[in-house]
Amino acid sequence: MKYDQARWTDDGDERYEPLLSEKANREVEVEDSPLPDDLTRDSLELPDPAEPELARHYTRLSQMNYGVENGPFPLGSCTMKYNPSFTEDVSRRAEAAVHPDRPDSTVQGTLALCHRLQDYLGRIGGMDAVTLQPPAGAAGEFTGIQIAKAYHQHNDDERSEVVIPDSAHGTNFATAAMAGYDVVELPSGDDGRVDPEALEAAVGEETAALMLTNPNTLGLFERDIERIADVVHDAGGLLYYDGANLNALLGRARPGDMGFDVMHYNVHKTFATPHGGGGPGAGPVGVTDELAQFLPDPHVQSSKGGYEYYTPDHSIGKVHGFYGNWPVLLKTFAYVTRLGDAGLADASAKAVLNANYLAEQIPYEVPFGPFHHEFVASASPQDAADAAKRMLDHGVHPPTTKWPEIVDEALMTEPTEAESKRSLDQLAAAFSAVHDEDDETLASAPERTAAGRIDQVEAARNPRLSWQALDSET
Ligand SMILES: *Cc1c(COP(=O)(O)O)cnc(C)c1O
Repeated sequence: MKYDQARWTDDGDERYEPLLSEKANREVEVEDSPLPDDLTRDSLELPDPAEPELARHYTRLSQMNYGVENGPFPLGSCTMKYNPSFTEDVSRRAEAAVHPDRPDSTVQGTLALCHRLQDYLGRIGGMDAVTLQPPAGAAGEFTGIQIAKAYHQHNDDERSEVVIPDSAHGTNFATAAMAGYDVVELPSGDDGRVDPEALEAAVGEETAALMLTNPNTLGLFERDIERIADVVHDAGGLLYYDGANLNALLGRARPGDMGFDVMHYNVHKTFATPHGGGGPGAGPVGVTDELAQFLPDPHVQSSKGGYEYYTPDHSIGKVHGFYGNWPVLLKTFAYVTRLGDAGLADASAKAVLNANYLAEQIPYEVPFGPFHHEFVASASPQDAADAAKRMLDHGVHPPTTKWPEIVDEALMTEPTEAESKRSLDQLAAAFSAVHDEDDETLASAPERTAAGRIDQVEAARNPRLSWQALDSET
């Protein structure tokens, strides 16, 4: 199958869709202001399109992009599952739009919902208390590690190290460093898992926590998790669960039962709400009873037949404005409630089945297994990034590439339970077609998309997040 993205060209102009400010502008006179001259301006240009122009502008931009509603999106570790429209309906309801400064006595329904979601997430993860405040998985990690730090400090037990396997997500290393810890990197064992003996050598009285993803980023379940938990706990450390791969365990196994003390949930992965372009998301954090006194402020608790905000005794303070990214949390609530226990267990079963079916259909080697909801194939001798770009020409979103580094030219692939057999077969056909193509074709891909290769490093290091025209200096 071949795919062509919409392109709008203007007589050789390489820019396919002008900015709104380049299309239709209106000069606005600015009235005299009491502010100092260097803080004011004499005139202001504002985009002034008619409604159809505006609607077409955004529709065209969406046609120049690839999203979960275009086709399969097996971006490993990100769990880009289709977002059912009922979750959007719920979060868009007018009643959901409450001002965060309203006193708790006037937002009892909202707080009841927060409280129920805390409870649901706690039961799903096997955790005693949950905060909904952190706005992303990475923010959840930072919150969780701050809680671990507060716990050790509370016990007059300053520790300096956080242990992290080399297959972990980059945010784990960044979190530990930002929280002021030295990172001890744990090399994976030959089977792609944590080697308990290497762990024993790495863990000691300086260990504040071990951060672990289970199943790990290769999709492998850490079978020695009970022994791993004992090693860390015996040394006085805490066990942190990176919840990005919870979709593999949903309704079947719980981090709390495996010995984890603190975890985050990437609700924008596990419970729909796919997180394109860096947001929006939410990263609630669950903890055991022992750690609940350190949760962020405010927390929601039930009281005398109602609900109220309260400050946990030794709270680490605020980690985000107000009580979290509310529309995303509402979608999570809608999704969990609609699926129920049986539906959640069914989702993880199908996610694992789909990953295993797809891996069987593709010509690339998958060196590690048995895997769960995702697998990491090796594109070698092809360049994984080139192969990935070419997949777009075949109408599918590529997998995550070049990570984890333990697999040569990694294609980290996670189809999710949302894909039918037909779309899994479409994915497999794209993998197969790309597998048989020559290096020259791959190196010049993508050909059929609105934009060719962009300079990703430049885009990440020097983003121009401005309403101003691209050619203006400021
Ligand atoms: C996505 C991810 C994170 C970070 O979560 P964000 O919500 O993107 O901040 C952490 N660990 C793993 C394994 C992930 O896949």
